[in-house]
Amino acid sequence: MKDQNCIFCRISSGEIPTNTIYEDEKFRVILDAAPASKGHALILPKEHYADLYEIDTQLAGDAMMLAKKLAMHMTNVLQCDGFNLVQNNKEVAGQTVFHFHLHLIPRYQNMKNDDILNWSHEMFTEEEMKEICGRIKEGLY
Ligand code: AMP
Ligand code: ZN
Repeated sequence: MKDQNCIFCRISSGEIPTNTIYEDEKFRVILDAAPASKGHALILPKEHYADLYEIDTQLAGDAMMLAKKLAMHMTNVLQCDGFNLVQNNKEVAGQTVFHFHLHLIPRYQNMKNDDILNWSHEMFTEEEMKEICGRIKEGLY
């Protein structure tokens, strides 16, 4: 399904031209227009799913396999020193475009923008940690 009001539907279908680094029947991979680093790219499924909650499980797996392939290749050609995969879901988590996408962010030694993804650490008591752990485990298997 495509959504005519969705910018990533219009980009992934090719209707709006952009810097495409890879394309197959399921995905288009583009350069992020406001990159966090040199080569910052986005894996876009061609079908519209708002986020990880909505995306087809198999397609999410395919996106991760493609991320692995691209991270290996981009590390070679860009000579980056590391890599972040980032995937935001819902506004509270920083999502701004509500069409599932996986960020590929090459990281470089001595890079200016070295505070991307730096979060402060929260503290929980041992009791709270046990309670959280138990709650997440329940019904998972
Ligand atoms: P997120 O915050 O995870 O939803 O990420 C959205 C990303 O899409 C941001 O990094 C934007 O820079 C990028 N972006 C938004 N519009 C475009 C566009 N037209 N072409 C390429 N990248 C875009
Ligand atoms: Zn869309």
